[in-house]
Amino acid sequence: MYTFILSSMRFQGYTITVDDVLSIDDICRRIKDELIVSLEQLNLQILVQEARQLKLHIHDYTLVEILSNEQNQYYICECPSHSTNGEEE
Ligand SMILES: [Zn+2]
Repeated sequence: MYTFILSSMRFQGYTITVDDVLSIDDICRRIKDELIVSLEQLNLQILVQEARQLKLHIHDYTLVEILSNEQNQYYICECPSHSTNGEEE
């Protein structure tokens, strides 16, 4: 099992565990989707909107490094200065 934790202003600490990781983008999408589903179940509509805006990424590890160490916990970051979506230089 791999553990991923959100490092986020509003959603700090949200954690998921998964059996496999297909790619960095895949895991960023999955933690965001699960967060949105969790918030929707609680009917927290404003937080759902905020969660949808999250642009997530992992900086300190490559996919190969993650796959080679299941015991570690990996933080997924939302800081805008590291955005990988290319909207900010
Ligand atoms: Zn970052």
